[in-house]
Amino acid sequence: MRLDVNRCTGCTNCLRRCPTEAIRITDGHAQIDDSRCIDCGECIRICDNKAKKAVVGKLKDMERFRYKIALPAPSLYGQFENLDDVDYVLDGLLRIGFDDVFEVAKAAELVSAYTRQYLKTEGIKHPVISSACPVVVRLIALRFPSLNDNVMHMLPPMEVAATLARQRAKEQHPELADEDIGVCFISPCPAKASYVKNGFADYKSGVDVVVSMSDVYFALIGKMTRDDEVMSMTESGMVGIGWATSGGEATALFNDEYLAADGIENIINVLEQIENGNIPKVKFIELDACTAGCVGGVLTVQNPYIAKTKLQSLRRYLPVSANFLSPEEQEYIPGLYLFDELPTYEPMTVLSHNMAKSMRMMADIQKLRAMLPGIDCGACGAPSCRALAEDIVKGNASLEDCRILEKRRRSK
Ligand code: SF4
Ligand code: SF4
Repeated sequence: MRLDVNRCTGCTNCLRRCPTEAIRITDGHAQIDDSRCIDCGECIRICDNKAKKAVVGKLKDMERFRYKIALPAPSLYGQFENLDDVDYVLDGLLRIGFDDVFEVAKAAELVSAYTRQYLKTEGIKHPVISSACPVVVRLIALRFPSLNDNVMHMLPPMEVAATLARQRAKEQHPELADEDIGVCFISPCPAKASYVKNGFADYKSGVDVVVSMSDVYFALIGKMTRDDEVMSMTESGMVGIGWATSGGEATALFNDEYLAADGIENIINVLEQIENGNIPKVKFIELDACTAGCVGGVLTVQNPYIAKTKLQSLRRYLPVSANFLSPEEQEYIPGLYLFDELPTYEPMTVLSHNMAKSMRMMADIQKLRAMLPGIDCGACGAPSCRALAEDIVKGNASLEDCRILEKRRRSK
């Protein structure tokens, strides 16, 4: 996430909205603590001044590769007016300069098929929480670390698509060296760009460049044709395209023991309920940080509910899935679908690695909270009085930052 200081008025809207308390207002401007930012995009949505920008690549970043592969997220298909065939979009991607297109929806169908296997694995912790939304994975690590073991160890479809697309390129063009092949993910959200940059703990992403869906949309609009002659390229069905909207991943399990929630506040609520043991008995939980699912990402152009409706009519003419597994393939989950370790992030609740020090800090925070007015006004630049108390104990703020106490002092 990047801030345009000239546009930021320090209004505190984003401060109050950030789910991980990653923002402080300093010297009249918002500042983001990168170690706490989960790239949920909430601060972009709320800022009327358009001061927050997502950090993503550009299409021209692909020019350094000899062979360019596009990985369109299925939410891309929901951005266009009157689209009745996915092939128009895939053909358009070739027209704007890509050499090949590998649908993330195809990889999603394969991930769904292997997730059905994964859920039968002995010893996994239930309920299994989907790892597809990188915001959710980071949110769990930061705010709900006790649920880390519930996170599914399957790679997201984007990553599987990158591996399969490279394999196909090497088979079709043995003359290409690894460094000649560039893979570009067309993303609805900035979180995918951070994921690609940082990878998972022991896993380096196979994607080279992440570009914004809106940039690609505008590049495509002038180049797409609705000609009947367009080559048939799509390799996905209802299941794969369904991943673009909330509940799509869960319903693809063909099992009704699931829960699906979307929107940052709702998913935080569900995670709190899981931690407290307050949810119905389900095997699988799909959580999407964006409202309505990936179609609600901040890098899209279409209203999420309109995009959802468009995808529903597009899916009507498709097979359920174009990627079922053979009985032999169902015997085990290939390594390319799995990751070993979750990335490690410092949970927000950890004040110090020394237990005694941590307890002393906690006690100091409680004392400070009792002194602060408790109205969470945000005037000090912290999102709440508790957050200011924590900042003071960590040495990042002082009691003088509280405007209310300062006013009271002056009026004595
Ligand atoms: S919402 Fe945040 S980034 Fe936007 S103007 Fe207000 S303080 Fe600045
Ligand atoms: S992207 Fe989300 S987590 Fe990061 S600073 Fe903005 S609101 Fe906070």
